[in-house]
Amino acid sequence: MTEKKIMEKIVSLARRRGFIFPACEIYGGLANAYSFGPYGTELKNNIKRLWWKMFVEDREDMVGIDGPIILHPKVWEASGHLENFNDALVDCRKCKNRFRADHLVEKETGRDMEGKLEAMSEVLEREKIKCPKCGAHDWTRVRDFNLMFKTEMNGIRGPVYLRGETAGAIFCDFKNILDSMRVKIPFGIAQIGKVFRNEIMARNFIFRLREFEQMEIEYFINPKADWEKVFDKWLKLQREFALRLGVKEKDLRHFEHPKAKLSHYSKKTVDIEYHFPFGFKELFGLAYRTDFDLAQHARVSGAELKYFDQESGQKFIPHVIEPTFGLERSVLAAILAAYSEEKVKGETRVVLSLPKDVAPVKAAILPLSKKPELINLAKEVLGDLKQSFVLEYDETQSIGKRYRRQDEIGTPYCVTIDFDSLKDKAVTVRDRDTMKQDRVKIQELKKYLREKLS
Ligand code: ATP
Repeated sequence: MTEKKIMEKIVSLARRRGFIFPACEIYGGLANAYSFGPYGTELKNNIKRLWWKMFVEDREDMVGIDGPIILHPKVWEASGHLENFNDALVDCRKCKNRFRADHLVEKETGRDMEGKLEAMSEVLEREKIKCPKCGAHDWTRVRDFNLMFKTEMNGIRGPVYLRGETAGAIFCDFKNILDSMRVKIPFGIAQIGKVFRNEIMARNFIFRLREFEQMEIEYFINPKADWEKVFDKWLKLQREFALRLGVKEKDLRHFEHPKAKLSHYSKKTVDIEYHFPFGFKELFGLAYRTDFDLAQHARVSGAELKYFDQESGQKFIPHVIEPTFGLERSVLAAILAAYSEEKVKGETRVVLSLPKDVAPVKAAILPLSKKPELINLAKEVLGDLKQSFVLEYDETQSIGKRYRRQDEIGTPYCVTIDFDSLKDKAVTVRDRDTMKQDRVKIQELKKYLREKLS
């Protein structure tokens, strides 16, 4: 299967099966905006839950917050987003399409000219680089385009911004956390939430969106600590999380940003890349940001953002290691890693072998026929289990078609109630991955599923 084909299949399955829909389709859609349908929402929430459990609840050194999307505009001044959160863009005058100039130049010449606007304009002219959409050679000058979404707020003069990353709220709450929680360095503050970036080219389905969710941690350490050790630990944990999504080791790699291209405050940045059908691309990121953020926020706000270390009696601005995870990219990687097709009795079986804790539906309850006695028993089974698992009940179509549907949405178990069930008070449980079937007493079904799903 070609790589383009895989993406087409995923996009079509996501839509057909209620995972992800193009947003506002009745109005003709909105450039690369998507809406999560019922299964997509479950899947996304399960990934968030997994993340929160692994990085907040199961650890002693983490606390979680949920900050606002609109922060004080000074936050973005302090963090440098208003000045530096830019992409270089160029427009084709003929077809009016807009492109990342650095990407165009790199693709055509192999040269990395990020940040050099004038030089990129010259290269586009000199090398007669053509528009990838219409083939014309008629470019505007290359200019910087800020990615922050601007809006207005009653009572505030000048623009306010929808957050471009979740970290800002974490730094704003740093002092509150020190004052209200018994945290001791090293410790981390975690947050999951929406962010907004006015990306020039949103594309590749949910890989690059203008509105997406980040799962982010700011991990505060003593400036004298062995930061490389902490950094490596986080890198390992981020890989571990990717594996929990069902991603395979061979599809992961690290890309360390070259020293010359690091922002002045970053000592080290590594992208954890996943082998998407359109190439190895960033799934998660990890950066050692020194004391840049807290020092900047302290300077611009006038607040003291220091930590008092009781053991040494010293006060210092902690340094920060920042592991960041994209939620939609996690969803996409989980679906891609889970997708497979196989031939079964001459028919193609499409399966999403999602990890069980991530799968949107844990089990489907399927009466073999619509005979009232079977339906009654199936509803009884459903009633018994509903409080314990996310289930789906389905009595339409042939049993084969119902199995296929559950395979396609990644349901690990199908529970079939047949005519024998009326006599032996047992049901057939079919395993999504092996297609093996077990006969299980209804009385023991809850225990059986609990063990299988744990
Ligand atoms: P990229 O280089 O792909 O633009 P980035 O380096 O700007 O990403 P970060 O600022 O590190 O990304 O954001 C943290 C995470 O958020 C990324 O690892 C990625 O998973 C996710 N992410 C970033 N931009 C987008 C986007 N436009 N749409 C969806 N997810 C995104």
